[in-house]
Amino acid sequence: MSLLRSMLLAASQNQWLRHRAAHYPFVRRTVSRFMPGETLDDALDAAQILRGKKIGTVFTHLGENIKDGSEAQQVTEHYLGVLEHIRKKGLQAEISVKLTQLGLDLSPDLCFEHLNAIVERARKDSIVWVDMEASNYVDATLDLYRRALMAHPNVGICLQAYLHRTKDDLAKLLPLRPSIRLVKGAYKEPPEIAFPRKQDVDENYFELGRQMLRAKKENRCGRAAFGTHDVALIRRLADLASTEGFAKRDFEVQMLYGIQRAEQERLASEGCTSIVLVSYGDYWYPWFVRRLAERPANLWFMVRNVFAA
Ligand SMILES: Cc1cc2nc3c(=O)[nH]c(=O)nc-3n(C[C@H](O)[C@H](O)[C@H](O)COP(=O)(O)OP(=O)(O)OC[C@H]3O[C@@H](n4cnc5c(N)ncnc54)[C@H](O)[C@@H]3O)c2cc1C
Repeated sequence: MSLLRSMLLAASQNQWLRHRAAHYPFVRRTVSRFMPGETLDDALDAAQILRGKKIGTVFTHLGENIKDGSEAQQVTEHYLGVLEHIRKKGLQAEISVKLTQLGLDLSPDLCFEHLNAIVERARKDSIVWVDMEASNYVDATLDLYRRALMAHPNVGICLQAYLHRTKDDLAKLLPLRPSIRLVKGAYKEPPEIAFPRKQDVDENYFELGRQMLRAKKENRCGRAAFGTHDVALIRRLADLASTEGFAKRDFEVQMLYGIQRAEQERLASEGCTSIVLVSYGDYWYPWFVRRLAERPANLWFMVRNVFAA
């Protein structure tokens, strides 16, 4: 991991920087490249625009670490409200939740109740996605995911290709016919836990992606979604999917709002399933700094914003 990336990931956890960052207009201008705004209405408006380009949306609300059960309840109610908006507006949209927001640190059973309530409210032909957080949460997240999946088929999980363990996790999940969003992984992890070299992460991603496509072909995987902006990797996986005889719409790529927009549109116009994850909420600091860490060149974009009007 590069020193700069490591420093940025450490900064993403810094409370003092978090409080300062929101006061600087140039930081807010940079953040606006990655999120359409802080409110749900901003996110819904962005989804309408994406829809016009045949791009689907996944909403995620950026929130603080919750301190008690009533906050987890509030987050749950917020997402139930989002599902209602999606239904009323007839949007082609889904949601993605973080289990720590639903009370995982307080009680796995309470967290399960919240997740269950959300999945029950979601349309049966849509997926409620569960984010994967730092490695100390992986076991608990997978346990709850399995419980939820046994009760409802319309729930999906994010797996991280940078973790050594993910190959085994995928193999253990496949008998349950999961829906999977594969990402590279966004947290600061030691080399015993995650591949330190980008090249190894990329190769592991391709290999896991290959296994997901094979499982999908054999009906052992619900949705196989590739959560990446890595155009070379997307092309390799798209070629594989085409060789395996997949219809274009069964090749699914999910990207973050504001990143690789041209590629999002290209995939949609070719008939692939192109989905954008739209984040909103006022607790954007750690999430935003992880975006900087993914591409430190974004720092220059922020520096340019210091001088922008
Ligand atoms: C839909 C979605 C959901 C995600 N959910 C999770 C999750 O639950 N848990 C988790 O740990 N991680 C999650 N991530 C983040 C993921 O782990 C990576 O950190 C992130 O996607 C960057 O990796 P990459 O695959 O795009 O590849 P990279 O090799 O990092 O990037 C490939 C190319 O994409 C572009 N790019 C990538 N990131 C940026 C950026 N921030 N700004 C500008 N350009 C960029 C650059 O051109 C870069 O060269 C999610 C990502 C997506 C797209």
